[in-house]
Amino acid sequence: MSANNLPIEKHELVIVGGGPAGLAAAASARESGVRDILIIERDSQPGGILNQCIHNGFGLHTFGEELTGPEYAARYIRRVQEENIPCRLGTIVTDISRDRRITCISREGVSLIDAGAVILAMGCRERPRGALSIPGYRPAGIYTAGTAQRLMNIEGKKIGKEVVILGSGDIGLIMARRMTLEGAHVSAVAELMSYSGGLKRNIVQCLQDYGIPLLLSHTVTNIHGRDHIEGVTIQEVDEHRSPIPGTEKYYPCDTLLLSCGLLPENELSRAAGITMNRVTGGPDVDESLSTDIPGVFACGNVLHVHDLVDYVSEEAARAGRSAARFLSSGQDLEKDTAAVVLKAEGGVRYTVPQYIHPSGMDDKLTVRFRVDNNYRDRYVSVYFGSERISRQKKRVLAPGEMEQVVLTKEKLLSYPDTKEITIKLED
Ligand SMILES: Cc1cc2nc3c(=O)[nH]c(=O)nc-3n(C[C@H](O)[C@H](O)[C@H](O)COP(=O)(O)OP(=O)(O)OC[C@H]3O[C@@H](n4cnc5c(N)ncnc54)[C@H](O)[C@@H]3O)c2cc1C
Repeated sequence: MSANNLPIEKHELVIVGGGPAGLAAAASARESGVRDILIIERDSQPGGILNQCIHNGFGLHTFGEELTGPEYAARYIRRVQEENIPCRLGTIVTDISRDRRITCISREGVSLIDAGAVILAMGCRERPRGALSIPGYRPAGIYTAGTAQRLMNIEGKKIGKEVVILGSGDIGLIMARRMTLEGAHVSAVAELMSYSGGLKRNIVQCLQDYGIPLLLSHTVTNIHGRDHIEGVTIQEVDEHRSPIPGTEKYYPCDTLLLSCGLLPENELSRAAGITMNRVTGGPDVDESLSTDIPGVFACGNVLHVHDLVDYVSEEAARAGRSAARFLSSGQDLEKDTAAVVLKAEGGVRYTVPQYIHPSGMDDKLTVRFRVDNNYRDRYVSVYFGSERISRQKKRVLAPGEMEQVVLTKEKLLSYPDTKEITIKLED
């Protein structure tokens, strides 16, 4: 019983979030021998964001075939069901303490769970309009792209006929095509930056194939209409992202979709006192995807925003294996050795993981990162201290695509004095 007389459930491993990350983490933890696993999901079904992504393009790396989002999710849901891993639906986790006590709320009320290990897999959410400073009224007809996607694909609602999209993240690009296929006219996708934040394949397949203009270095500077949106002003911006006077152009529309970035859902992680990374918006983790609270791991979009779900599943499987190892050893073995810090420099925005305990590494470790601009013909170099260990030529690097380098344990152990590993772009 807790201090306030609530019974306390106990589970070996609790996974917060039943999206692709949570499901893959559960399947891999079971494969690694964890018997008592509970997935907690606030929605009425597992699958996460994939449930509303009815387009194809998922699973090429994992299954060697192109699946829709729900098909991809279904494969993991089946695995979890076959393993009899319970997924408690309609239940939201509201607190995680440093000693891994979890507070949940569902229709049955508040419940408490003590977990031997926890995997954070809460995904991310869209940056809302409130976080953007666009003048004008707040009329009806403005949606985040993901909300519009949910309304259309899950609730079967029609959104609008004349559409402008602000932001060229993947959800915005996919919704440009989706709305066109539903008979709407998308007059423009305006992007503040000089490059798109989306995948190249989505720019081609969702905009270029349908003749939808992508206005780079442009933004919406005014919203017209009082009760319902009637149009927007789009303006070109300079290198400081300030609107250039005289470039205003009016676009009539009844719908404005916002696709202006995703924010990892880390209120729980922050409240638990986990050290967060300012660039990724997710926890800082080591090679086992362990946060700085022993026994608490993170994977998927809550850790950093991914481009492909295949990488989410791969990363989540690693978190599942690490949680199993933690539970069977009863301690964080990796913490026995001093951490090597990973540094992102020269065009590399961040790395995941952010630090490595060499003794805790598998034979190979994939380090993922994103770049801060479009680059052509650059080398991705890896330095152990001041010595360059490897460099790999890349013809194209873009902020919308995740990149990776693979480090080997053998190599790292052969440089025992290494305190820092730097990943950077070079000419
Ligand atoms: C519009 C769109 C299009 C995409 N297109 C592609 C594509 O074509 N190909 C591709 O490979 N990838 C695509 N992706 C990316 C892919 O969908 C994501 O990378 C993947 O879904 C992330 O998985 P996740 O489990 O980390 O997060 P999510 O799928 O967001 O799952 C997180 C889950 O956690 C739950 N949750 C959150 N907080 C709590 C809490 N406190 N308590 C309980 N439950 C909680 C949520 O309800 C949710 O179910 C797309 C993504 C979007 C948004």
